[in-house]
Amino acid sequence: MKTSTLALAAGLFALSGAVTPAAAALKVITTTEDLAALTREVAGDRVSVESLARGYQDPHFVEAKPSFIIKLNSASLLIAVGKELEIGWLPPLVTQSRNSKIQVGAEGYLDASLTARILEIPTGQITRAMGDVHPLGNPHYWLDPRNGRLIAKAIQNKLSALQPADAPTFAANYAAFDQKLAAAEKRWDATLGPYKGTKIVTYHRSWPNFCDRFGLDVMGYVEPRPGIPPSPSHTLDLIRDMKAQGVKLILIEPYFDAKTPNSIARETGGQVLVMTPSVGGVKEATDYIALFDYDVKLLADALKQVTGH
Ligand SMILES: [Zn+2]
Repeated sequence: MKTSTLALAAGLFALSGAVTPAAAALKVITTTEDLAALTREVAGDRVSVESLARGYQDPHFVEAKPSFIIKLNSASLLIAVGKELEIGWLPPLVTQSRNSKIQVGAEGYLDASLTARILEIPTGQITRAMGDVHPLGNPHYWLDPRNGRLIAKAIQNKLSALQPADAPTFAANYAAFDQKLAAAEKRWDATLGPYKGTKIVTYHRSWPNFCDRFGLDVMGYVEPRPGIPPSPSHTLDLIRDMKAQGVKLILIEPYFDAKTPNSIARETGGQVLVMTPSVGGVKEATDYIALFDYDVKLLADALKQVTGH
């Protein structure tokens, strides 16, 4: 029934000549809103783009919905963060989509991590022992604008290969994004410059790339290991270290329980700041640059308060 309806629809389109460029264009599905936003920068209106996860969700633990399978079934390109960020939810969906174009290794599958700068790559044996969710290095790498640029470039190359007629547009859009991002980076550097070297704590290891780029020093984490909830002994150690080093700011992602961070803040005289790691995490973070605009301002205001300068 479904097949015949589709065939009928295709026939009608062909007869009426109603196939518009938009209808014929690539259908891109991304795992996260950050990748969707970067795809939109490069693609403009030449492809359709949709993200599976929402920006306010923990990208490690997204609830897989049947609608995701339907979206993947008709996709021409799937762009994933990789480094096992989506390993808890994406692989079965890709299998169940029965779409040979987007299987891992196929032309319609892009692992955005392959050309990005990845931090915290474990040395020695790779293991998921104790539930560490970052076994291949840190998968939150999009939070460095230099990586945003590298991801956008990889997307430009992939879109150009899949839809060559629009390659000049993708190249021009990339160049415009590159310039816009460079101007924004000057702005962010100026705002965060006074706080270089400030020590902070974060809940999850979401921010190593961000902090590396802007010169902040992450001295500890509320989670004992990535993906492992706080334990009393780890929390006590963290409070002791924060007091000893005068650390006053705890960044938490919107999807974690603030109870432990709040009690750490009470013990240390510090502050908890909820900062969103993804486009769409808050209404202001409408695109990749707007995400940084929002976070940089929020963070600078908090750093001003805790450092007194
Ligand atoms: Zn993570």
